[in-house]
Amino acid sequence: MKAGFLKLKGDEKKHFLQSKFMYYRKFNFYAIIVASLGSTTYFVSDCQLFGRFAWETLFPRLFIFIPLIAFLIINAKTTNYLIMSISSQFMAHMMMWCTIGAIIFLPDKTHASEGFIIMHMVFMIATFASPFWVSTISHSCVFLNIIISHQFNHYENIDIMFSLGLPCFFGIVAVNYVMCGVYYDTYNVKHQLEDSLVLDPLTKVFNRHKFHSITNGRQFTFENSETVSILMADIDFFKKVNDTYGHDMGDQVLMSVASVIKSCTRSNDYIIRWGGEEFLVIMPNCPVNEGINVAERIREKVAVTDNDVCPITISLGVASYDGVNYENAITEADMALYEAKEGGRNKVVCRA
Ligand code: GH3
Ligand code: MG
Ligand code: MG
Repeated sequence: MKAGFLKLKGDEKKHFLQSKFMYYRKFNFYAIIVASLGSTTYFVSDCQLFGRFAWETLFPRLFIFIPLIAFLIINAKTTNYLIMSISSQFMAHMMMWCTIGAIIFLPDKTHASEGFIIMHMVFMIATFASPFWVSTISHSCVFLNIIISHQFNHYENIDIMFSLGLPCFFGIVAVNYVMCGVYYDTYNVKHQLEDSLVLDPLTKVFNRHKFHSITNGRQFTFENSETVSILMADIDFFKKVNDTYGHDMGDQVLMSVASVIKSCTRSNDYIIRWGGEEFLVIMPNCPVNEGINVAERIREKVAVTDNDVCPITISLGVASYDGVNYENAITEADMALYEAKEGGRNKVVCRA
């Protein structure tokens, strides 16, 4: 179990927390509903304390339905982890405040300490889907709720509420910490598996599995797929590199070319190892003249980059996708590449 989840930053952190929320989303949803409905059953103990129908506590006990409806609406409208975590923690606090509202009327307030111990359990179930710090800070506010409500409820056993509640709190924080670490491990393994499915192990660019995942029929499925440039790149005389320096050195050249292509493209472009020493680059939201510029940059940089083996060059074919049939675009890029090879290599040719 790794505690690396506390060191995550920026988008990586958001991605992890969103993934954790989605994993526990269903549990969180039903747990909040069951706990809210369950909190109304405190009314039975109210009647026992009164020795009659406790009509005084009926309103505070049933009040929980109002925030519960709001929670259900928010849950239906968003899956954002932060909004949902705050809503879930808010629900746990509302359950506690409904209980505090009912305690005002109780003839014997000593049992409030048991009621608040159960509240710690509600905070425990609400921790799973929430970020560690959000649930820890929210849970610690249980003690603030007790101090505030003590001003008007005047608990006789507030010391017991703290001496029994604090171990519960620290125990639950420890469980939450371990559970976050366990999910972090699952998250990492899941990512490694996903990456190994779509990444070429040698060059670390995408393989054809990724290509299939961004297509449907003959169309690309990613955003901004109206203006797409396609590059087909092929290393010149690569067979000679293998024959002269050996296969391992050839691999090194391939890795170097892949990293040059990466450095000349944007993070949302797809670089796919299409064949042995052939790379397909799909550039969303990129008009063809910009695609030609990128291809030229790649060609120039490959020619001057030291790959520790031998100087090499690359030829590129450029085409544009018409939003309807990517096969046509790939065929066009392939034909442009063929023309570049025929024209002497170390060239960019566009057919658009
Ligand atoms: P051209 O300029 O016409 O593209 O000539 P070429 O020699 O680059 O083209 P050809 O398609 O004849 O050769 C491609 C070579 O790429 C053949 C194959 O041995 C080599 N190759 C394919 N995959 C790998 C690989 O993973 N590692 C290495 N080292 N070589 C590979
Ligand atoms: Mg080649
Ligand atoms: Mg080839």
